[in-house]
Amino acid sequence: MNDCLFCKIISGEIPSKKVYEDEYCYAFEDIAPVAPTHILFVPKTHIPSAAAITPENSAVVGKIYEAIAKIAKEKNLENGWRVVSNCGPDAGQTVFHLHFHLLGGRALGVMCDNI
Ligand code: 5GP
Ligand code: ZN
Repeated sequence: MNDCLFCKIISGEIPSKKVYEDEYCYAFEDIAPVAPTHILFVPKTHIPSAAAITPENSAVVGKIYEAIAKIAKEKNLENGWRVVSNCGPDAGQTVFHLHFHLLGGRALGVMCDNI
């Protein structure tokens, strides 16, 4: 867990451009944005991926979605936005700490292969 990139970002050991933080989640700008708004939302507790969500830890997902809706509003994404959570190798997950990409600010197309 101590080797986890996003745990290090949450703790401040690795710098990030913070967008939002509360008791449950931390949100920051993606280092390689694929849309004008590209923000990553992560739980403060280490959960490896969506595959590891259980009845014991699932409440944080609702909290994260509350934060996503709030930030999407603040970023004026009234024309639409997308949330993506890649899970496992076939989906292209590269960081194994659960995260949700918030994408917006341009027409995103039908597919999500570009993130
Ligand atoms: P995944 O591919 O696992 O769905 O998403 C991982 C995301 O983390 C990628 O979009 C990538 O650009 C982003 N990322 C990787 N390393 C860093 C970093 O050090 N800082 C920030 N802010 N984003 C990162
Ligand atoms: Zn972690």
